[in-house]
Amino acid sequence: MKVLIQKFGGTSLATSEVREKAAQKIINAKKSGYSPVVVVSAMGRNGAPYATDTLLSLVKDICPATYPREVDMLMSCGEIISCVIMVYTLKSKGYDAVALTGGQAGIITDNNYGNATILRIEPSKILRYMEMGKIPVVAGFQGVTEDGDITTLGRGGSDTTATALGRALSATFVEIYTDVDGIMTADPRMVPNASVLQHISYNEVFQMADQGAKVIHPKAVEIAMSSNIPIVIKNTNGNSPGTIISSYFEKDSVQTKLGEPDWVITGIAHMLDRTQITIEGLDQDKENQILRKLADNGISIDLINIFPNNMVFTINGSDAEKARTILEENECEFSMINNCSKISAIGNRMRGVPGVMSRIIKALTKEGVEVLQTADSHTTISCLIKGEDTVKAVMALHEEFKLYKR
Ligand code: ADP
Ligand code: ASP
Ligand code: MG
Repeated sequence: MKVLIQKFGGTSLATSEVREKAAQKIINAKKSGYSPVVVVSAMGRNGAPYATDTLLSLVKDICPATYPREVDMLMSCGEIISCVIMVYTLKSKGYDAVALTGGQAGIITDNNYGNATILRIEPSKILRYMEMGKIPVVAGFQGVTEDGDITTLGRGGSDTTATALGRALSATFVEIYTDVDGIMTADPRMVPNASVLQHISYNEVFQMADQGAKVIHPKAVEIAMSSNIPIVIKNTNGNSPGTIISSYFEKDSVQTKLGEPDWVITGIAHMLDRTQITIEGLDQDKENQILRKLADNGISIDLINIFPNNMVFTINGSDAEKARTILEENECEFSMINNCSKISAIGNRMRGVPGVMSRIIKALTKEGVEVLQTADSHTTISCLIKGEDTVKAVMALHEEFKLYKR
């Protein structure tokens, strides 16, 4: 049995017209000799009746408290509705399909509601349906705890369902259908001349996703990488070849063969709504105490620099008020800059190439963008900037590294 996972995102299921196209992709896979397993997200984006954010808004105004177990149960409904609709669509075309919740598909998670981790998949039920010739359509983004409580896998988590099922069922590859032609050199909503990458390594796409490129969930990439299953990102509205994500080596890439110095960067990602915090006059004990308190409150820290007399780091803007309370309670002397953005240039080939950081700073300074903080690793250089400069900064780096030419 040649198993193929086909995942359809919210916009790929939003209207009956696009659902027809999605169903056709599934039928084509079946006709080509694959045994497709379909994963679906909730239909549409915020505002659409069964989109995840719309479902969340149903309880938001009732009371300010959140009840994570119940919120997960609520959010899971969007994907369940989608999989029933997709089964009906396939059946209407003469193809036998069966709808499965995450739990029915054997996806067992821990009980970290809202961002659960898959512990294991028990695929016997899916396999039984496949042997009967049925197409399993699985509700993405969800699983169940050992106790049978519904959990969700973190926003954008249907991608994770897809690659986890790919690993459990030893799929030949995983197709992720969305509303763009593949992984692009930057978010096309921000950079109109962004180009589609034919091929990208797991590591680079993981970095892009982790640094804010929404097109695939970083956990999904990790899972595919661990089992070396290729992922193909494709547009539901068309037949373009898409982007292949695999573990190709840099020396084999078309880009390197071209030998152009500009091919050191593969893409630019951005993350909005970051808050920069500077705390003055801390000794090491107090520093550790503050970092522990922030972690205990679920606040994750990024871009941290520690100097003899102060400490600078960034957090998610939605955690800013919680962090302020903690710092005030601990009598810290601190300042906060809200509404910052982190922009990151990513590329495996920048490893060992000198001068990339200085090109980035020069390109940003030329556009009048103030750089508040920087960080670099072998494959990623990130700069924190003011939110109002985001578009200008992303465009400047995209131009500097001639990413429109890929
Ligand atoms: P889906 O509902 O199909 O899961 P998402 O909204 O999660 O879709 O992801 C697709 C979106 O990701 C695109 O519409 C695009 O705006 C955004 N995106 C951000 N960065 C990139 C990138 N580098 N390449 C492609 N798309 C990107
Ligand atoms: N519907 C979920 C979300 O909006 C999961 C997904 O789309 O992958 O986050
Ligand atoms: Mg998504």
